[in-house]
Amino acid sequence: MIVSKFGGTSVGSAKNIQKVIQIIAHKKKRSVVVVSAVGGVTNLLLKAANKAKNGKKEYISIIKEIQKIHIDLIDELLNKPNQKNCEEFLSVQIQALNDTLNGVFLLKDLPGKSAAKIASTGEILSSYFIFEIMKQQGLDIDFKDSREIIKTNSTFLNAELNYDQTYGNVKSYFEKNTNKIVILPGFISSDSQNETTTLGRGGSDFTASIIANAIDADILEIWTDVSGMYTANPKLVKQARPIEQISYQEAMELSHFGAKVIYPPTIQPVLDKEIPIIIKNTLFPQENGTTISKNVNGNRTTVKGISHIDDIALLTLEGNGMIGVPGISKRLFEALFLKNINIKFITQASSEHSICIAIDKSEAHLAKEAVDQQFEYEIIQHKVNPLIVEKDLAIIALVGDNMKSHQGISGKMFRELGDNNVNIRAIAQGSTEKNISAVIASKDVKKALNTLHAAFFEDHIKQINLFVVGIGNVGKKLIEQIRQQKEFLLNSQHLIMRIIAISNSKVMLFNEDGIDLSNWEAELMDNGVRSDLDSFYNKVIELNLRNSVFVDNTASDLLPNFYANYLKQSISVVACNKIACSSSYVDYKNLKYLSRKYHTPYLFETNVGAGLPIIDTLNNLIASGDQIIKIQAVLSGSLNFIFNNFNAKNSFYDVVKKAGTEGYTEPDPRIDLSGVDVMRKILILLRESGKEIELDEIENNSFLPPGSLQTESVENFMDSLKHEAGHFEKLRNNAEKNQCQLKYVAEYQNGKAKVGLQLIDKNHPFYNLDGKDNIVLFFSNRYKDQPLIIKGAGAGADVTAMGIFGDIIRTGNK
Ligand code: ADP
Ligand code: ASP
Ligand code: MG
Repeated sequence: MIVSKFGGTSVGSAKNIQKVIQIIAHKKKRSVVVVSAVGGVTNLLLKAANKAKNGKKEYISIIKEIQKIHIDLIDELLNKPNQKNCEEFLSVQIQALNDTLNGVFLLKDLPGKSAAKIASTGEILSSYFIFEIMKQQGLDIDFKDSREIIKTNSTFLNAELNYDQTYGNVKSYFEKNTNKIVILPGFISSDSQNETTTLGRGGSDFTASIIANAIDADILEIWTDVSGMYTANPKLVKQARPIEQISYQEAMELSHFGAKVIYPPTIQPVLDKEIPIIIKNTLFPQENGTTISKNVNGNRTTVKGISHIDDIALLTLEGNGMIGVPGISKRLFEALFLKNINIKFITQASSEHSICIAIDKSEAHLAKEAVDQQFEYEIIQHKVNPLIVEKDLAIIALVGDNMKSHQGISGKMFRELGDNNVNIRAIAQGSTEKNISAVIASKDVKKALNTLHAAFFEDHIKQINLFVVGIGNVGKKLIEQIRQQKEFLLNSQHLIMRIIAISNSKVMLFNEDGIDLSNWEAELMDNGVRSDLDSFYNKVIELNLRNSVFVDNTASDLLPNFYANYLKQSISVVACNKIACSSSYVDYKNLKYLSRKYHTPYLFETNVGAGLPIIDTLNNLIASGDQIIKIQAVLSGSLNFIFNNFNAKNSFYDVVKKAGTEGYTEPDPRIDLSGVDVMRKILILLRESGKEIELDEIENNSFLPPGSLQTESVENFMDSLKHEAGHFEKLRNNAEKNQCQLKYVAEYQNGKAKVGLQLIDKNHPFYNLDGKDNIVLFFSNRYKDQPLIIKGAGAGADVTAMGIFGDIIRTGNK
């Protein structure tokens, strides 16, 4: 025989009930059908009960709502004569419900007995109507009220099963019954006085499992609204997928830790008889679903699933007087037991100085009273502190039978969580190692589940979430490159790169699911909201996404003030903005320190030489113990462009103007032409070489005449270049006369750094530096005579965006 249980969604609409009937009608074997209440009805019933208890008349409209849900189903699925019969049944049940709720309303009291009676209405109605519908369709079916055979104690809402009596009743009923199909309501039962009791929320699964055991069923089918037990809750983890095979123990652990798809007590009765459970989707019956059984051979997966329980409170009992004193934990557990408080998680420090327990948040107040009362004497004597209660927590758990034979799983779990700034409040691992669980903040649950899911199930695919500020030349190119490289990144780098936010100084746009990059400009215009740096930062924190990267494509001196905050939240920072690295040494050092402390990349390769791997190369030299002795470099793509194009035909003014329109200079060209930009770059290289140095320690021999140096606006500056044309011509003629090239060079030697225009003769490696190229010569202990040379395009939006892109990818390898 087959026992098939159909959940709330499965019987939640006329269309779904038709599917249920098809599934059952096609079975060759005799079937027992257990049904839940119509989806949402149990919740409505309990809501009505609470309203009535609190003296609120709204319970009446809830009853009407429940009545309407059922009338609609009857109308749609039954023919007229049967409709009448069912409507009569419905009105009797609704009348009884009304009476009970009215009693609760008048007394403002909701005893368990009434609550169970109210809650049971959903299953009483659904099972009877589906029975009538199946009968109408000609199926050979009997109806049995579960309350006549499933017996419990009198803890009405969460009643304990009387196994012997129940198994005896179920067996003898089915021995006598000859129908092909029998339908029963799930969830409901009765006590020795034949008062209605229930098996706890989600208890219909348990009803089915009890029957499966009693009749030695071949299989227990749980039909629900998802295609099996998933690697994580599919509502929170989009990438979750059904687990094909799973052991009873694993399924039990997952369900105990919140995988609601199966009610935890369900597994024991079928495990005793080794009856397999199959979880299937009523809406997609062709999908395989999950099989829960004893032997899950040949499956080498270590972690089978990740689950979580929300609304947890953590209780900590600690005190110096606890060490080595026997009986403390016994008294603690007893105090909780006497109040019927269910413990979900325990850890104890080996010093016995503290014990940590997780319970349901709703019981925290009761627990605090009970425990403080239990240890009243010790608390007065300061041997034990009053119980500490923390709320807004959740438990997440990794589950798998094979975890015990693999090292490094907990290491990986905690590293992944740590890297994503998920703070762990407590940890527990059973000695069987089937389960590793941790208590974390509720706000971090979604991020933690997704992070762990990616780490353990997604073939090392990593999702990177970008928050991009600055959409000028560079920003636009970056977004375009990311759009173009999407497929490549996924296939070759196993990276899913999403841009979650785009902002300039006026507007910002956020989309938690990733902005559509084919249409981002229009989207930003249409749906962008006024941007400001604080609200941008707050929104990034609120979204709390894993592998978040803040990307600064601006030259703003305000944005770097936020870098430290991002790093402290384990959000990587990638910047082409040089301000942070070239302001005070203390600030620079602090960001480097925070990056190390939070194990979060702060990358700025494009600060020097755009996309050229200058900083990365330097970092590798230093990390392997080399020391920089001397640096010679042409670091300004813009100045190189300017001096390469400055000739008899093109005046200095014309060339500077062109460099600006082509995007080779900073928005304010004075930053380039005064040498400040090059000073910042050599400063950064020196700091990255391990030298403690400030900008004003760098000598700057400006080639600009005083008339240009002292201008107050970009416009005046550009005008001055026209007026001072003679000065620049003189520089050029002098170079020509000496058969030299003019290059703006940054140098570090004998502990001193300087920048300035130099005459370079044709034997020097700088002589043939084309266009907007950069070149760096590193002389180090290892590269003493022949320097290490890096040369290539050192300015331009394309290469800079590429460099930023490279840094972003590097954050993924942290
Ligand atoms: P039913 O009414 O059919 O008994 P439930 O709502 O009790 O259905 O259980 C199914 C729900 O369990 C799914 O819709 C899903 O949201 C939730 N769920 C939580 N964790 C998991 C998981 N690991 N696998 C599948 N479903 C899960
Ligand atoms: N209807 C009950 C509930 O919602 C039992 C069940 O669906 O399993 O809790
Ligand atoms: Mg359920």
